[in-house]
Amino acid sequence: MLTSRLPGRVEPYKLAAHAEHLEGLVALADLPRLAEEVGAQQGDARVWLDFTIDAQGRRVISGHLEAELQLPCRRCLSPMAQDVASDFLLGMVTSDALAADLPSTHEPVLVEHDQLNLLGVVEDELILSLPQVVYHDEADCAVSRDQLSSGAGSDASDAPSKSPFDVLKHLKGKT
Ligand SMILES: [Zn+2]
Repeated sequence: MLTSRLPGRVEPYKLAAHAEHLEGLVALADLPRLAEEVGAQQGDARVWLDFTIDAQGRRVISGHLEAELQLPCRRCLSPMAQDVASDFLLGMVTSDALAADLPSTHEPVLVEHDQLNLLGVVEDELILSLPQVVYHDEADCAVSRDQLSSGAGSDASDAPSKSPFDVLKHLKGKT
């Protein structure tokens, strides 16, 4: 079980040269772009990272992350717990131009002044691993299919004025 925090910034070339392994927790509340996508989050992501120099001499990071997020149900818009996980392979580059040299199996990460913003990397990977849409099971959802089709009733829990049609409008606006 992970208990320590992942450092927010590292010197990735040094870590790769020593084939270091890093693992730790990242507080989801520290990830503002994730909050912009799916609302404020609590708890931690669990992250495992291996820094290496591969056979082609590339500095790479292979990683895995897991988190339980609260994602808005696209029918009733109230949050529901959803496990996300991701495996990824990152190639370190010192400029955007060099990213084009990486094979398509590698995602580029920008290393500036020998520093890598690990928090930003974890946030990017979490956002990439988000499911397109999530729905409650019908029995658990505040908006039932009947309400959506008949227009009767509403979700009174947090938005008493919201009609199911507003929900539909919202869905249309998003796509
Ligand atoms: Zn729902």
